[in-house]
Amino acid sequence: MKIKGKNTNGFDVYLLDIEECKELLREAQKAMKFTYPEKNKGFAVALLTKNGKIYYGASYVSDTHNLTMHSEAVALAKSANDGETEIIAITGPNCHNCKQLIWESSIRSKIDTVVIIEENNEIKQIPISELMPYPWPDHLGNH
Ligand SMILES: [Zn+2]
Repeated sequence: MKIKGKNTNGFDVYLLDIEECKELLREAQKAMKFTYPEKNKGFAVALLTKNGKIYYGASYVSDTHNLTMHSEAVALAKSANDGETEIIAITGPNCHNCKQLIWESSIRSKIDTVVIIEENNEIKQIPISELMPYPWPDHLGNH
């Protein structure tokens, strides 16, 4: 990974090389075996921190449904519990609730987390700020 520059909000934006993107996508795929309570049923993601650590998250389903934890929430919480809160990239696509979580993490770290998406055999790196027009809170954290 290398720093690409700053976005219009002054947040750092990183650019991954293609192998790093593929590794994250592979790790997310591998984590599907940890979806709960049924293996390989649900969703999984992987994220990369500024320190070069990779964390995966697999969805954890509740019978109530609204207590279900999305894979992004699991991965972000796991990394935060290790003191790793500077998230360079995370695999996607992500639901809108999870985009919100990624955006809030981005505001706190001042890193425009890149969402890695593989579509039609093409890997895309899309900064979360581009996926969150008119975000709440704004880039300064104002509610
Ligand atoms: Zn989600």
